[in-house]
Amino acid sequence: MTTDTAISRAEYLMELEDRYGAHNYHPIPVVLEKGRGVHVWDINGKVYYDFLSAYSAVNQGHCHPLIIDALKKQADKLTLTSRAFYNSVLGEYEKYMHEYFGYDKVLPMNSGVEAVETAMKLARRWGYAKKGIKNGEAKIIFIEGNFHGRTIAAISASTDPSSYAGFGPNLPGFLTVPFNDLSALARALEDPTVAGLILEPIQGEAGVAVPDEGYLIKAYELCRMSNVLFIADEVQTGLGRTGKMLACDHEDVRPDMVILGKALSGGVLPVSAVLADDDIMMNIRPGEHGSTYGGNPLACKVAMSALQVLKDENMVQNAHYLGKYLRQELNKIKHPLIKLIRGKGLLNAIVLNTDDEQMGWNLCMKMSDKGLLAKPTHHYIIRLAPPLVINKEQIDDCVRIIKECLNEF
Ligand code: PLP
Repeated sequence: MTTDTAISRAEYLMELEDRYGAHNYHPIPVVLEKGRGVHVWDINGKVYYDFLSAYSAVNQGHCHPLIIDALKKQADKLTLTSRAFYNSVLGEYEKYMHEYFGYDKVLPMNSGVEAVETAMKLARRWGYAKKGIKNGEAKIIFIEGNFHGRTIAAISASTDPSSYAGFGPNLPGFLTVPFNDLSALARALEDPTVAGLILEPIQGEAGVAVPDEGYLIKAYELCRMSNVLFIADEVQTGLGRTGKMLACDHEDVRPDMVILGKALSGGVLPVSAVLADDDIMMNIRPGEHGSTYGGNPLACKVAMSALQVLKDENMVQNAHYLGKYLRQELNKIKHPLIKLIRGKGLLNAIVLNTDDEQMGWNLCMKMSDKGLLAKPTHHYIIRLAPPLVINKEQIDDCVRIIKECLNEF
């Protein structure tokens, strides 16, 4: 392999991943090495708008200086002690989270799926301890089309064969009901062994599937009537992405549990959390759940900074207004390939009018050539989720790029 020109170096680096890494991803062929705000640069110095934002982990923009500063300062002091001891930052972080989101307690974890698993365990435990479900019989309801991560529990709840097929046996105790279907949910809730409903307020990986207005509040009320926990997986929709701090805020729903991840660190570290009140959280006792890295001082400092800049820099409002503007401008593009533009805040998607399984990929490749990075989901849906620090001029430029690319088909 030669590495003497910029182009061959990109090829070399891609080949390394291909040769020595598992093939569990199919990346767009660009090799990125730098990021700032809404932009990323590849190793040849070409600049791109990032319209994926690491699947909404980089809401605050790449390498936000204040978050990086918090990281550096704490990294010089203390990074990890495990939870065998108290540390000087965790309590401060837990109080901060309590004041920020208004829940009694937080349970800190690392990746999004670990927080989902934590919520499943809390729901089952609450079902036994508080609802009186017979031990070993608790069920959790999920929504068809969901995506909650890649562990055995999360894929056992999945209805997407590309998530679960070939990894069985699935875990028991999970039910699914159709998306956006309150009657089906009401029927499933009649089962007295149901402890919780776990849902994404907007299904991100399914292609930004937005349920009807009123669905969340009605689903919440149905859960309340059946004494079932309403648990929102806000790993992708949370922290300003949809134009509210939490996507459930659009319908004034206060979930019994909130699952957070991704942007909780602004894309700096894997930091996740479950929020709940004492009635739920205090059913888990010392030694019954945890994670070596969960609640480490580095993560706590980074998370506080990531949450603070969301507020101080009005990113949630920006997502609301510029999201509306983006959809309005995209809707002006009249092109036979566009079936539908949908989304909330800066979590949006173009649904393509095509049977061609390569079309989403081909469009993303063209957009990448012209300096805009996005990735198709389900072949015909392009998610558009830039960092929340994007401005109007940048949106105009990106809409121009998208339009130019569509016109080449
Ligand atoms: N939940 C939702 C809604 C997600 O979108 C994702 C990831 O895309 C996860 C959970 C899993 O998060 P992680 O990849 O950090 O485990």
